[in-house]
Amino acid sequence: MRVKFHGTRGSVPQPNNTVRYGGHTSCYEVVTDEFQIILDTGTGFQDVTIDPDRITIILYSHFHHDHIQGLPFNFGIFSQSDDIHIASSLAQKSALRTLIQTYFSGGYFPIDVVVILKHLKFANFSSIKKLMASSSVLETFELNHPAGSMGYSIEGDGRKMAYLLDNEYKPDQLEGLLKFVDGANCVLWDGMFTESELEYWAGWGHSSMEEACKFAERANIDRLVITHLSPGRTDDELDALGQSLTSSKVSFAIQARELEF
Ligand SMILES: [Zn+2]
Ligand SMILES: [Zn+2]
Repeated sequence: MRVKFHGTRGSVPQPNNTVRYGGHTSCYEVVTDEFQIILDTGTGFQDVTIDPDRITIILYSHFHHDHIQGLPFNFGIFSQSDDIHIASSLAQKSALRTLIQTYFSGGYFPIDVVVILKHLKFANFSSIKKLMASSSVLETFELNHPAGSMGYSIEGDGRKMAYLLDNEYKPDQLEGLLKFVDGANCVLWDGMFTESELEYWAGWGHSSMEEACKFAERANIDRLVITHLSPGRTDDELDALGQSLTSSKVSFAIQARELEF
């Protein structure tokens, strides 16, 4: 299994002083023998190469703009005709189609993406679970985020990863999350804030780096990667914060980097 970080920044793209950790918004690519799974299509999606040899699936955690805004900026999706499956456990297929179509048409976007790209196949989450069951196990976990967000775990090729964006961690999630990520080789965690910043940003739906470290130490996982990095955080500030992480399992996501496990 491979996980590539195409968009590590939260909320809004940030090109200033983010060249090392990355300025694109949320997009992650998980590759197994059979599938290419794209987790969210923030601006990082423009750097994804659609794999002609695998079944491509886009899974949305939720529909805040930083998780969808890159969809039509991957020009590869205009030049190929193989199906790309799109689903979310937060919305059934027709609601999902309407959400994406509304954002990318009319007064918001020059073309009607959903009408023009007929090979974008909107699906119910249950259908995608069935499709992937040939070689993988796909599970979902309800996160704590305004208007909702769904986490995912993917098991395939004898490996497991979990994606927990966006989430404002609460202690009552602990038992459920520990079970959800159990045995994972890699967990992606929304660590947008520090604990002291969270006092101001409570209710915006994001967690802290300190919580990431505490969780990583409790969980039966190999590593945890903090991502959805704050747009106000420079590379140098992240370097300094990296020194204060209290778990050796934890690191910051770095855009364009790929983990293989
Ligand atoms: Zn977000
Ligand atoms: Zn969000």
